[in-house]
Amino acid sequence: MPPSAPASEAPPTDENVSLTVAIVGAGMAGLTAALALAAKGIAVDILERASGLDAVGAGLQLSPNATRILAALGLSEALAPHWVEPDEIRLADGRSLRRVATVPAGRFARNRWDAPYAVVSRADLQRALADAVRAHPLCRLHLGTPVADATPEAIARHTGRHPDLIVGADGVRSNVRATMGLPPARFSGNVAWRLTVPPGRPVPHPFDPTVVTAFLGRNAHLVAYPMGAGGGLNLVAIGSGRAEQADGDIAARDAVSALLNGWNPALRDALKQAEPLGRWPLYEIADGDWHDGTRILIGDAAHAMMPFSAQGTAMAIEDAAALADTLSGTTRLQTALETFVALRKPRIERVRARGAFNRFAYHAAGPLRLGRNLVLSLRPPERLAEDFDWLYAHRLPGA
Ligand SMILES: Cc1cc2nc3c(=O)[nH]c(=O)nc-3n(C[C@H](O)[C@H](O)[C@H](O)COP(=O)(O)OP(=O)(O)OC[C@H]3O[C@@H](n4cnc5c(N)ncnc54)[C@H](O)[C@@H]3O)c2cc1C
Repeated sequence: MPPSAPASEAPPTDENVSLTVAIVGAGMAGLTAALALAAKGIAVDILERASGLDAVGAGLQLSPNATRILAALGLSEALAPHWVEPDEIRLADGRSLRRVATVPAGRFARNRWDAPYAVVSRADLQRALADAVRAHPLCRLHLGTPVADATPEAIARHTGRHPDLIVGADGVRSNVRATMGLPPARFSGNVAWRLTVPPGRPVPHPFDPTVVTAFLGRNAHLVAYPMGAGGGLNLVAIGSGRAEQADGDIAARDAVSALLNGWNPALRDALKQAEPLGRWPLYEIADGDWHDGTRILIGDAAHAMMPFSAQGTAMAIEDAAALADTLSGTTRLQTALETFVALRKPRIERVRARGAFNRFAYHAAGPLRLGRNLVLSLRPPERLAEDFDWLYAHRLPGA
């Protein structure tokens, strides 16, 4: 296929929005962006360094702001058999196991936020997205294609098509970001340990496979939720740790056990029945411009955040839809990119601030813990749900 004209020769104008876009990275951000752009009639090449798409990390919470977009992209039918809609999101004290707060989900979420609150295995989500991308005539997926130098010329050598725009969706260690001369991600001082109770095994008390539960403790928390319709339980423990594998020879189960020292013995016993998946040092990106006129960053490459409000993938999915909307408008490429950034940055910062608040509240100890438990237990579930309207009921302008 002959390369299309370089952007400098035929910049998209109000009359001409026939862009060619290359996306680096086929994670949730890249695949959703490909589908959203293709839905607007924009041709996309997706370059992924991995030779197969095998998502790691077990489960994922997908809040209504994300599932609404996936539905609009026509993915509900493919995803519905794989996801589970938990009855509620629960906060529980890690020592007493007492319920601290409950936000209803399930049918309530569908009614209040007009879209489901779902949990799904990462592999199922990625497969559904990748299948839809492969089936779309405007999308070309290039696996086993690492992008070292994110320039239109280098991309065209891989794809035979000169992109007007390169979308950096290559995650927290983004090469597109590096090509733009931006600072790398910073280690947050926190580490996540992932474990799973595999499908088919009984879910041990005090875990409840019908809800999302965050057990809260001193300087750490543990989230447990069903992995998806295939069964199994996903567990994520988050606390302080080192970036490098100082505890590399300690299995995740033992590391989590040390992290949850002093927590309820039933919880610690239950963890012994879980299979460790490994440790994830958590990195953050909170600085740098997201675009330079030729390249735009989305998802973790632009704004990796702590998983304290379980919104990283949701924000990547929102970015993807917002980018497609702004690019398919009648504005110039430069203007569209600026519009995208102006639209997304305040929202990302609000979500990040919510995550920071959650970290403070979740890991509280001593009098702060007692105060937190008291304040939250006094708020009825519907009032707590109201606090999430800005996040879960979010719609893109014009949607
Ligand atoms: C413990 C934990 C729990 C989480 N839980 C949730 C949750 O419940 N809900 C939620 O919404 N979010 C959650 N998140 C956040 C979420 O996982 C991320 O925000 C999300 O996966 C980011 O997607 P992405 O597509 O931007 O990046 P990634 O998923 O990292 O995808 C990047 C892709 O780019 C490819 N790539 C990288 N470099 C190159 C290159 N040079 N050339 C070509 N391809 C390349 C990679 O192989 C990969 O496929 C969690 C995160 C963690 C760590």
